[in-house]
Amino acid sequence: MRKPVVIGLIDPTPQVLEITDNLPSNELRSSITHSLITSYNLQESCDMIAIRRGKVTRKLLQSFHDKKYIRFLMKSRPQLEEDYNDYKLGNKRNINDGWESCRKIRKIGNARPLSSKEDEQKKDEEGMNNETPDEDKQDEDKLALSEEDLSSEDEPSSSESENSIDLNDYSTNDEKHQILEKYSLIYDCPLFPTLPDYIKIVTSSTIESCKWLVKQSTNNCQPIAINWLGGRHHAKRAKASGFCYVNDIVLGIQYLRTTKYKKVIYIDLDLHYGDGVAEAFKYSNKVVTVSFHYHDAGLFFPFCGSVEERGQGNGENYCVNIPLKQGLSNGNFEKLVKSIITPLIEEFGGVNDCVIVLQCGLDGLFNDQHFKKWNLSIDGMVSTIIKHIVTNEKQFPVVLLGGGGYSNTNSSRFWCFMLKELSKVSNPLNNVDLTNIPMEEKFLDLYENESHLFWGVNNSLQKASMRKDLNSTEYLQEIVKIIRDRNIK
Ligand SMILES: [Zn+2]
Repeated sequence: MRKPVVIGLIDPTPQVLEITDNLPSNELRSSITHSLITSYNLQESCDMIAIRRGKVTRKLLQSFHDKKYIRFLMKSRPQLEEDYNDYKLGNKRNINDGWESCRKIRKIGNARPLSSKEDEQKKDEEGMNNETPDEDKQDEDKLALSEEDLSSEDEPSSSESENSIDLNDYSTNDEKHQILEKYSLIYDCPLFPTLPDYIKIVTSSTIESCKWLVKQSTNNCQPIAINWLGGRHHAKRAKASGFCYVNDIVLGIQYLRTTKYKKVIYIDLDLHYGDGVAEAFKYSNKVVTVSFHYHDAGLFFPFCGSVEERGQGNGENYCVNIPLKQGLSNGNFEKLVKSIITPLIEEFGGVNDCVIVLQCGLDGLFNDQHFKKWNLSIDGMVSTIIKHIVTNEKQFPVVLLGGGGYSNTNSSRFWCFMLKELSKVSNPLNNVDLTNIPMEEKFLDLYENESHLFWGVNNSLQKASMRKDLNSTEYLQEIVKIIRDRNIK
C-alpha cells in the first residue's frame, strides 16, 4: 500500500522576493512565480517552509565552497549598498553600471522600500534577530549556526590579505578585474547589491527544504519538498559560473547525507549540463548524478558533459551524462527518463535510506526566451516528472528545486502547473482550475498577449517551432545501452 504524500513549499517573504528578484539573470522571476502560485491559492495544499537566513553560516557554506571565495562573496560592499538604498528611496544620482539591471527591476516591478519597522519584523521572521528555537538545537550543532559567524569567524591572517581586501580598496581597474576574474565574478555572474543576502536565502531555502523533508519522513509518508528559489547547479567550489554563485544543491545533498539518507539520486533536467553538482560528487558512489542536457561538444555552455565522463575512483559510473541533440521531443524525453531513472530507482538505495533531488530547470522548453534548442512543453515535462520520478516505485522522498529558465511567464506557469499536479498526487480532490489567470494577479499585464489564459497560444505545443528532433531512436538506444551496461547499484 502506498504511503500518503505530503508537500512542503518554501514560503518567501516580500523581503526575500525583493532580494532574489535582483539576480541579474532572472530579474523579477521569484516575485512573478510566487504571485501566480498564490493567486491560484496553490499553497493551500502545502506545508509552508520558512527560510531562515540567520542560520546560514560561513561554516555551512564552506562545507563545500572554498573559504577565501566565500569570504570574498560575503563582503559588504558599501558603495553598491548605498546605491541600492538610494535607488529604493527614489534618488537617481550616480547609479553605477552594475546597477542597471536593478534599475530596470524597479521600473517594471512595484517593489517599495521596507520601512525600518517592517524590516525588523522580517528579520524576526527569518531568525536573524532571535535566539535559535529549541527544536533546532540539534541541527545547530551540525551546521554551526549563528549570524555572527558570518561576520566574525575566520578573520583573515595577514598572509591572506589579498583576499580580504574589499573590491572598493583596489586602486586600478586591472587589479579589480584580476580578483573578479579569479572567482569568475564577471560577465554572467557580476557582483550585485544584496548578493550576500541572496546567497544566504538561496542556501537557506534548500537546506530548510531538506530539513523539512527529513522531519516529515518519520511520519510514514512520502514527503515532497519544493524550493523554486534553488537549483544553482553550475557554481563550483571556488568559482561562480553560469548565473550561479553558491551551489545550494551540493550543500543540500551534503546536509541530507548527515541524516539517515546515505544515498542520493540527483537528477538534472536543465538544458545545460549540471556540471557543478557532477564535479562535486565525481568520486562518490553514494550520490549518483544524472544530467539530461543539450550537448554540442565545445560549443555550448558549460562545454562538457559527454557520456564518457562517468566519475572517477569509487565514483566511476556514478556520474551519468545524457548528452542530447537539438529538438528533443516530449515523447523521446519521457522514453529516456523512463529507461534510465526507473531501473536506477529499482537498483540504487533502500526504501529508507535514499532520497531524490531534482533540478527542474526549464530552459529546455520550446519557447524559452534565450535558448530555443528543444521541443519540450510544460505539460510534457511535468507529466514525465510526475509519472517517472515523483510517483516512483519505492516512494523515495523528493526535493524539487528550480533552475534555468529565461521567460518569466514560462517559469511561473511551469512551476505552478508542477505544483498543481503534485497537489493532485497528494490528494486527487485537489484540482485547481488554472484556465484563466486570476484577475487579482499582481502581474496580470504580463499575460495579456495570451488573453490572460494559462495555456495561451504561445505556450501550447501546437505553436512549437517544430524543429526537427535530431535525437534518432538509434542514438537514444545507444546512450541507454551504455548507461544500463554500467549496472549502477
Ligand atoms: Zn540552464
